[in-house]
Amino acid sequence: MYITQALHRSAQCDPTRTSTIYGGRTRTVAETIDRVARLAGALRGIGITEGDRVGIFSLNSDRYHEALLAVPWAGAVVNPVNVRWSVAEVAYSLADCGTDVLLIDDNFAPVAVDLRRRAPNLSTLIYCGDGMTPDGMLDYEQLLADAEPVDDARRGGDDLYGVFYTGGTTGDPKGVMLSHRACLTSATGSLVTTDILGRGGVLMHAAPMFHLADIAAWNMGNLTGSVHMMVPSFTPTGVIEAIEKHGVTDALLVPTMIQMLIDAPEAATADLSSMRHVMYGASPISETVLTKARSVIANARFTQAYGMTELAPVATLLTADDHDDPALTRSCGRPASHSELRVVDLDDNDLPHGEVGEIVVRGDHVMTGYWNRPAETDAALRNGWMHTGDAGYLDERGYVFVVDRIKDMIITGGENVYSIEVENAIAKHPAVAQVAVVGIPDDRWGERIHAAVVLAAGATVDVDELGEFCRTLIANYKIPRSVEVLDQLPMSGAGKILKREIRKAHWEHAERVVG
Ligand code: ATP
Ligand code: MG
Repeated sequence: MYITQALHRSAQCDPTRTSTIYGGRTRTVAETIDRVARLAGALRGIGITEGDRVGIFSLNSDRYHEALLAVPWAGAVVNPVNVRWSVAEVAYSLADCGTDVLLIDDNFAPVAVDLRRRAPNLSTLIYCGDGMTPDGMLDYEQLLADAEPVDDARRGGDDLYGVFYTGGTTGDPKGVMLSHRACLTSATGSLVTTDILGRGGVLMHAAPMFHLADIAAWNMGNLTGSVHMMVPSFTPTGVIEAIEKHGVTDALLVPTMIQMLIDAPEAATADLSSMRHVMYGASPISETVLTKARSVIANARFTQAYGMTELAPVATLLTADDHDDPALTRSCGRPASHSELRVVDLDDNDLPHGEVGEIVVRGDHVMTGYWNRPAETDAALRNGWMHTGDAGYLDERGYVFVVDRIKDMIITGGENVYSIEVENAIAKHPAVAQVAVVGIPDDRWGERIHAAVVLAAGATVDVDELGEFCRTLIANYKIPRSVEVLDQLPMSGAGKILKREIRKAHWEHAERVVG
């Protein structure tokens, strides 16, 4: 199995079908395969050989799609770059990965000089934007025009497809090595387990394409022969316009995007009726947001995925039907058909139903290892099982409930408190737009529960009021003892709340027990 296989099949069966839509540009499958074979020829021409890493530092576009195919076609390995990172972080990851050739678009070309200074290994920059090609860079379209198309190297199976850096939510980002088999196992297993992405759909890429969540959706779109429609990056207005203009049927969104979409004033009057499926995941969603989303995007069936970069990324799926079972509101579903999952204690013994432990996962979708980090690889992949660092439990029917990241759990007065449970309670308060709950040092309780909130426009709230409100929803010891109001919460490149940033100020002089 190899990632470009679906393109060969489409070219044989359906060459005139639309393959990509980006801005005003539409390309057929036949055009795409020709461009991919040329880009692969150009990469070979500039010295790329088997196993070399080729970076992509760009917002979403049709050229991103082409690059994700052309790099393995040339026999090389993709290294998609997190577009929300600082120059220093990008340079770190490119140097760490030994990525010498980088595709870069107009959004990031201005930092190229700085990037080159910090990552001296960068030898060739290919400009894949739509403006004037800056000095010192090769032009993407010119390369394609000049290159001879080459045959697909057809590397696949256990060969590396890419090195993907984790979100850096809990610590330094790590390069995750994923094979063709891992990526395709995750995509096919997800398609088999749910009814997402029927044939003939228009799949919108609004979540960043560097992230594994979108790469998984992308692979599903390739396998089902869907049209890939890209918006450069998520904005509520851009996404609503794209849905209305192109009749988008399927989209992968992370919870923060769903929240922004449904809260946008245009959402109330927009025609979102073409939407058949919304896949979401990558971080927990609040019940309030999910309920509203299901009424605003009324025709869509919602599927939740739980997983991580290391699992290429899908481990469990909460199907659309599962969403109608009130007992499953907090569940992220059951293991997808390709995935085995257990909940274990510190000695890797299975825990009984309902007991919280670490979630561990096994299957062909598990990473090969962390790039250049054998010690971390050994720590994560023990006895053939990927140790996720997530705390959760299983119920009698095999549904998985993720309660928290182990590193985000709060231990207060000897009791474990899951930050997500407290967040769910606080999020129900009408004055609260966004919330993150962390443990901060406390002389008496070890850790004390602290909430950072972003308020709804014009609203006010204080700690006593929030405490009284939460008292009706959660036990006393879980109620926040302090509240800070922020203009916005610190977010990672993948749109996840960086709790370590919120914690940082409070933990300057103390050592945390967890994480
Ligand atoms: P880093 O590993 O560098 O700290 P990260 O873990 O955020 O970054 P990802 O691989 O993108 O990087 O995210 C995986 C994590 O996201 C999971 O371990 C889990 O904590 C969380 N997650 C993913 N899907 C869900 C979900 N459906 N519900 C709750 N949490 C989820
Ligand atoms: Mg992680």
